[in-house]
Amino acid sequence: MSELLQGSFKNLGLSDATLKALEKKGFQEPTEIQRECIPLLLAGESDVIGQAQTGTGKTAAFALPVLERLDADDNTTQALILTPTRELAVQVADEINSLKWSRSISVEPIYGGTSYENQFRKLKKGIQIVVGTPGRIQDHLERGTLDISHLKFAVLDEADEMLDMGFIEDIEAILSRTNEDKRMLLFSATMPDAILKLAQTFMKNTEIVKINRNKDDEVLTKQYYCFLRESDKIEVLTRIIDSAEAFYAIIFCKTKLQCEEIGRKLMERGYEAEALHGDLSQKQRELILQKMKDHKINILAATDVAARGIDINELTHVINFTLPSDGEVYTHRIGRTGRAGHKGCAITFVTPAERRKFLFIRRTVKGDMEEYRIPGADEILKAKKDRIAAQVISALEKDSGDYDDIAGMLLEKNDAASLVKALLKLHYRNDLDRSQYHTIRALDAKREKPKTVRRTEPQPFTRLFFAKGRKDKFTKRYLANTIIEECGVRDEDLQDIQVMESFSFVNVPSSVAGYIIDAFKDKGEDGKALIVRARPEEGRKKTPAPAVKSKRPAAKMKPRSRRGWQDEVQPYGRDTYDEDFIVHKKKKEHGKYSKKKKK
Ligand code: ADP
Ligand code: MG
Repeated sequence: MSELLQGSFKNLGLSDATLKALEKKGFQEPTEIQRECIPLLLAGESDVIGQAQTGTGKTAAFALPVLERLDADDNTTQALILTPTRELAVQVADEINSLKWSRSISVEPIYGGTSYENQFRKLKKGIQIVVGTPGRIQDHLERGTLDISHLKFAVLDEADEMLDMGFIEDIEAILSRTNEDKRMLLFSATMPDAILKLAQTFMKNTEIVKINRNKDDEVLTKQYYCFLRESDKIEVLTRIIDSAEAFYAIIFCKTKLQCEEIGRKLMERGYEAEALHGDLSQKQRELILQKMKDHKINILAATDVAARGIDINELTHVINFTLPSDGEVYTHRIGRTGRAGHKGCAITFVTPAERRKFLFIRRTVKGDMEEYRIPGADEILKAKKDRIAAQVISALEKDSGDYDDIAGMLLEKNDAASLVKALLKLHYRNDLDRSQYHTIRALDAKREKPKTVRRTEPQPFTRLFFAKGRKDKFTKRYLANTIIEECGVRDEDLQDIQVMESFSFVNVPSSVAGYIIDAFKDKGEDGKALIVRARPEEGRKKTPAPAVKSKRPAAKMKPRSRRGWQDEVQPYGRDTYDEDFIVHKKKKEHGKYSKKKKK
């Protein structure tokens, strides 16, 4: 197997060592961006801009050729890769390490928020590939602990995100310290004007590789997620089934019990379904699979294990009734639909408690996911009526000679409309009975959180302390987004955001404070809490600082504006006065680059 598939990586001009690493890593075929970029980078000398959606393997697209072209015996920093966050720096460094195979090339992530000492030591020894966040790289440059004047490659990874985070000036400062004759690579999921401008300034004879989304298999499976309550899952499932043009599907469940329950409930509601799980005998299992293959049933409720290795083609839908445990399981599950030229649809149910896990999985899998809009009863009934009409029309076209006598007989004594209605009722029974659809309790989808906060009455607020600040490249917007992404609270619930040099504050409704703290409880340095309740005296009042203020007017100290839209719209209220004071004070006390004193 690997012979043939490896071939496609082989055709790109990679060395045997790299092909070995790829085999070990389990990469069988290059992604499109890799297929385009690798030869370009291996052979040519041009700068390259690579654009492809998230999750398409951009890292390996630049990392493999960079690894190939570095001089292992030269201990200087030969490649600098800038990433927007430290998580990404670590991830990219890990990916490169796993791709380098047995080559002795040193790769290290260099990012803010950790001690300098360790980084000094490693930099001194020589790091051939430095993967870093712009802020910390800038720091090292100014300290003279990093030399980037002998680069073979400078790479801006996730360039759009870096610009979004306000790193443009840092990036420009960093690039201006690099040698002219390096190759500049820029990778990004999107290509806003600001990036093209940056490219014009810093890149020369640039080749642009743009991979359009939705190629091959991806376009065939539409992926949806659906935020709902556990108790509404069956109702939503039946609405999906009833509104679908055609439905031939596997419903993935977590346990055997759940499989049986879903199978039973669907059968009770008149669907042709069966449960497939590990407790069945081989004989039972084969019978059920045969029924499915013969389209005697159209729904299988199955566990991951039971569904393994079954070859049922042309599934129209895959429903993740329970959230898969990770991205790999997800990909495996949805890979059963949208095959061989047939369109498919994958819908993943997500309960409020699973929101965070889902967001994580979503980040790790290929392709876009859209929110599934649960159809209303009237909409489904309308669709059903249309389908019934279409079925009758198509029956009209077939010869129904056997019924000639009865038809004549009936038409003699009854009017046609009443007859048609009676026949439809006979055939379709209660299909159009509206009461079969139960109410689904509204769930404020994207903003799901433990308690809904209504704005009608004044809310008690809790002030939270966030152990990150401007030095970690935090902005008000970034802080708000971090909490919104992680906890699903609303924008307007985050108030009075203050971002200081090394920490920040935010007011949140007291009803969700505990939830937010909990969500970030191990996200800080060394697994410590990132967010805690602020002490009462912290950041609540404007800090009176007349002496300092008179020396340095606040306007001058305003941090340079990053993407300010939110600050204009939001009632964050508090301005930069206190933080100006604090920044200023700190600079006075410790000087710009001296380390913070431990108290
Ligand atoms: P991007 O930067 O485009 O968002 P990444 O480089 O982070 O994507 O890759 C996403 C995931 O896909 C990673 O887990 C990576 O190891 C994996 N991956 C990359 N290329 C391949 C490949 N050719 N075959 C299989 N998996 C791959
Ligand atoms: Mg990437």
